[in-house]
Amino acid sequence: MSVKIAKGHCGCGSVRFEVAQQPFAIHACHCSYCQRETGAAFAHNALVEPQALKLVAGEVEMVAIPAQSGNPQRIIRCKKCRTPVWGHYASFGDHACFIRVGAMERPSDFPPDVHIFTASKPDWLTLEGHVPIFQGLYSAKDIPELFGEARALRWWKARNAAHAERVKA
Ligand SMILES: [Zn+2]
Ligand SMILES: [Zn+2]
Repeated sequence: MSVKIAKGHCGCGSVRFEVAQQPFAIHACHCSYCQRETGAAFAHNALVEPQALKLVAGEVEMVAIPAQSGNPQRIIRCKKCRTPVWGHYASFGDHACFIRVGAMERPSDFPPDVHIFTASKPDWLTLEGHVPIFQGLYSAKDIPELFGEARALRWWKARNAAHAERVKA
């Protein structure tokens, strides 16, 4: 999978964004928070550094809502139609944007690296194939194998930057 510039937009088309780097992780999250918030069986998020994501048109607004971790998730939505386009979780702070893959123009370019929180997956949804499945979240030791060394380094860089900020605050 190589991504040069990938594009995405909201439901009404006024918010347009571009992603200039391959995501360092792509999650299919089956937690009940993601289900409720998306109205779907799972949320499909591609994680990139904020420098890799550019808002090229439209206006966005931020809405904070509860998340599985207990710390709020901040969701960035189109100001007009309120489609969520990306979000920030407490664990990565502002250092990773969780892009909603469904808002990308070519979602099939972003297959999940991992299924997480499948303990709350609906029974009718059968997961097949080679994508690893975790009942909860993966742990630190799984990261290089899930994402490969180069992307794992980016994962840790973003996570550590967020952690350093939290400690300082
Ligand atoms: Zn919109
Ligand atoms: Zn979730």
